[in-house]
Formats: sequence, C-alpha cells, structure tokens
Amino acid sequence: MTKFVVTPASRAQREAWTGGAIPDVERVRPGLWSIPVPIPVNPLRYVLVYALELQDGVAIVDAGWDTDEAYEALCSGLRVAGYAITDVKGVLVTHIHPDHYGLAGRVREASGAWIALHPADAGLLRERYDDEAIDGLVRRERALLERCGVPATTLDELAGASMMIRHMVSMARPDRLVEDGDDLGLPGWDLRAIWTPGHSPGHLCFVSPERRVLFSGDHVLAKITPMVAVHPQSPPNPLADYLDSLAAVGGLEVDEVLPAHEYRFLELGKRVDSVLAHHEERLAEIERVVAGHDGVTCWDTATRLTWSRPWESIPPFMRRSANNETLAHLVWLEAKGRVRRAPGEPDLWHPQ
Ligand SMILES: [Zn+2]
Ligand SMILES: [Zn+2]
Repeated sequence: MTKFVVTPASRAQREAWTGGAIPDVERVRPGLWSIPVPIPVNPLRYVLVYALELQDGVAIVDAGWDTDEAYEALCSGLRVAGYAITDVKGVLVTHIHPDHYGLAGRVREASGAWIALHPADAGLLRERYDDEAIDGLVRRERALLERCGVPATTLDELAGASMMIRHMVSMARPDRLVEDGDDLGLPGWDLRAIWTPGHSPGHLCFVSPERRVLFSGDHVLAKITPMVAVHPQSPPNPLADYLDSLAAVGGLEVDEVLPAHEYRFLELGKRVDSVLAHHEERLAEIERVVAGHDGVTCWDTATRLTWSRPWESIPPFMRRSANNETLAHLVWLEAKGRVRRAPGEPDLWHPQ
C-alpha cells in the first residue's frame, strides 16, 4: 500500500522539521502566528504555539514546556508578532501533557491570562502533578504493568519512568472549562472547541469555520500518529475514543491543519483516512500475534510487534509506552470480539 503523504502548508517549516532545526516564527495568515517553542529531552524538539490576534492582545493555543528556554522562546516569538507576554489574554490548552500545558501557569502569572482546559483533563491534574497524590498513581501504574506481564526485574523502573519530567510542569488550575461545541468567544474569531478524546481524555481541537483552519493539537499530525494508550488515568477503551474523535474532525471543511508538532499541512480528510488505515494495520498485526501465540501477555505481544527500532534498543520509558499502546489495541480488539482476555496475574490473551 502506498502511504499517503500530506502536502505541507509551509515548505520552510517542513524543511526545518526534517532538517532537525527549529522553524522560524511565521505569520500563518493575517492575525495568526505560529511560534515554535523548544521542548527538552524529546525527539519532537518543539511545540508549535499559535498566537491569535485579538483587539487588545492575543490568545495562544498551547503554551510549551515549563523551562526558562521555552519561556524565552515564547516571549521572543510574541515580540516578532508585535506583542509582549503581558498582552496574552487567554491560553487555550489542547491537553494536559507537559509540552502543551506546562508553561500555562507561568504565562498567566506574567499576564493575568485565563487558562482554558476540557474538564476531563482538568480532573486529572491533581493526581498527576501533586506530590502527595503521585505515589498512588505510580502504584496503579505498577499494578497495570504487572497484569500486562512486564518482567519483575523492570517493573519498578517502568512504573516510575515518567517521574523525571514532573518538575517541568507547574500545576496551574484552569480558569475556564471548555466543553465540546463551546464558542470560545474571542473577539474577531469564530473559534469553536471540538472534544477529541483519545490521546488524552480531555483533548480539544479548535476550529475556525470562517478562516477554514483547524488547531489540531496532538490529535492529527502530519507524519506521526499520537500515542493512544491505556494507563491508570485513561478511560477503559481509549482507542475507541480516539477513532471516534478522528471521525469527528475528518469531515471538517478546512483548508489548513495547524498541529502542535512537526509542521502545518493541507488535506485533513486524507490524513485522517491514513491514520485510520494505520490503526487498522496495527490491529491486524496484533490480532496475528495473539493468533500465533495463544495465551500471550500484553508485554510479550508488544515485544513481537514492529517498532521504529529493535525492541532491545527501545529505552524503558518508551517500552512502557509501547506496552500501554499495545494494551489499548488489545482492549479495542476485545471489545470487538476479535480477541479474548483470560484475567489473571498476568492477563493472558487468546484468539477468539
Ligand atoms: Zn500529547
Ligand atoms: Zn505534544
């Protein structure tokens, strides 16, 4: 099957991405700016923050990671657009992952801006970022991994794998909760929220039908597919949510997709179709592994799949993601009656 390749909306931005550089601040169109904000220790390298001009300042979509470098990049990007950090009136956060949400609190401190988040993500904040609640989360992650058949020798390492990045997120409470279909009420903008759970339970996209653009966050990206995984804070079948959420945006009549990573692109509908096809292939591959290894654990299934590099060279944090992503596919197949789970310590998976 020939893979569909999207058309980049900005050649310069795409070239920066493929060349391993940070793209320039760009005016996407009148009143709308793209500001790359670097993120540490992550192959994605930067998050694209969008600044939407209002009558008396700007609103931004996403904020970046909470580091000094990111804050400086956001401030200087805003200066290129003709604004100061104090001109930010609102921060629309697509979801609570640290590369999007981490800096929101600091922006609010500097500017008095409101922070908007979907209630499903707002509800996860305390457990994820509060020092007293975090132990419970790690315990639940450990139990989940144990049921997946993660070897006892790596269980603790994998369960605590994301703790190292927590200090880069300040726990800002949102000022506004945004639900599916809400009009953001930004002067000069017909911006509407679309709830797109899957990558995160409260992920939001924002569409402007008048300007024919979609701010897609991590929901739809030009080349990579976002991680959709079962974890202690996820709903039971996040992949079902994600695939439904793709359908919710696939038919939108927009000219340009403004994602949070990589580069902006055209042809939303075709990109959505190719992401759907990717998951269908992945589901079929996992179904084959279960059929060929009756009574396999989730972990052993994950080790048998094709990844972007050999399993042995995948670091622990990413192995956990791979495992939890595999679990999301197994759970989806189970709900469709294509595989069967025998609960236990660990759970074993059988062909239907
Ligand atoms: Zn994310
Ligand atoms: Zn992201």
